[in-house]
Amino acid sequence: MNTRRDFLRNIGASALMLQLNSLTTFADSSDHHEQPYQGKVLRVAIMGLGGYGTRFAEAMKDCTKAKLVGVISGTTSKIKDWQAKYNIPEKNCYNYDNFDQVKNNPDIDAIYVITPNALHHSQVIRVANAGKHAICEKPMALNAREGQEMIDACKKANVKLLVGYRMHFEPRTLEVIRMRNAGEFGKVMFFQGQCGFKAGDPKQWRLDKALAGGGSMMDIGIYALNGARYMVGEEPVWVTAQETKTDPVKFKDGVDETIQFQLGFASGAVASCLSSYNINHLDRFFLSGDKGFAEMQPSTGYGPIRGRTHQGELTQPVTIHQSVQMDEMADIILTNKKPVVPVNGEEALKDLKIIDAIYQAVKTGKKVSLTT
Ligand code: NDP
Repeated sequence: MNTRRDFLRNIGASALMLQLNSLTTFADSSDHHEQPYQGKVLRVAIMGLGGYGTRFAEAMKDCTKAKLVGVISGTTSKIKDWQAKYNIPEKNCYNYDNFDQVKNNPDIDAIYVITPNALHHSQVIRVANAGKHAICEKPMALNAREGQEMIDACKKANVKLLVGYRMHFEPRTLEVIRMRNAGEFGKVMFFQGQCGFKAGDPKQWRLDKALAGGGSMMDIGIYALNGARYMVGEEPVWVTAQETKTDPVKFKDGVDETIQFQLGFASGAVASCLSSYNINHLDRFFLSGDKGFAEMQPSTGYGPIRGRTHQGELTQPVTIHQSVQMDEMADIILTNKKPVVPVNGEEALKDLKIIDAIYQAVKTGKKVSLTT
């Protein structure tokens, strides 16, 4: 019998096949009969059982190479719920005070930190010191200094550090990257990335500078920035940025409501990006080269991602981003697999350095060099 799980496993497998051969069509890949996976499974504990942690845990039901086996939470009632729902034994449950003891637990390989941004730095360093691989949500940290310290701690402990860049495994995104690498757009000249939504509850941590580290730029603008880098396929050499604030009561000092930023690349390409907590329906990428273009809308939401290029509609399989991400991350951790676009701490540090420069450009009104 074909279950939803089988279907998702097949499209997940198709997504992996696409990375090897992006020319595979959906019809071809659905004919592909996989053997049941019999290799090693990454045993993961999730830290922070909030909105995204919950979404992730549900998606992990469809993983073949990773399994949810533990939780770290400050809320006892959630721990109980998750234990019942995901069959998690008591010995794999921790809180924020005692999770260092996970170092004595041989049944957990990796911890996925899905807490507010300001907590990532200290929590990832504690995970590393406990000898476990760390997976951390974006933004990896509040600034580049913190990011570097996290990388150093993981290196010292000889554990891997990965960051939850789920779009790096999304088949339609990977197809645009393949086309660019193959020269199908010609010389890339321009990228536009627009990412934003209206932030609701004024009391949420996302609007608290101490927990969020900033505003829209940290949370949603990072998708436009990271997208500019993987769509253009180069690192930017300068940035300029401007902030607009229409509601200083809701978006207090240090919490940006809307930022526009521009990136320049050594090739001459430029990017124009918009990040907002006060504009809805912003989820759009546009890439232009002298031989063609790609446009995606939605471009970074949970999907389905939709888009077209000068060659026609993007028709690669629709996946559950988080299921594919976690299976791919299991492969990266267990077999050293190299993803098409990196998801390691160094990749996240590049974004943090540019975010630091964006905030500096907003403050000074000046172009900030990214090459020094
Ligand atoms: P939520 O507010 O929904 O959940 C955060 C959880 O963190 C809480 O439920 C709580 O879990 C725990 N927590 C620990 N300390 C605190 C604290 N002081 N204040 C609030 N919560 C605390 O946030 P999200 O799940 O939406 O976001 C978490 C992280 O995931 C962020 O870094 C965000 O950027 C990222 N994210 C990534 C997405 C992606 O697509 N890659 C999408 C959404 C978010 P508990 O009660 O178990 O301790």
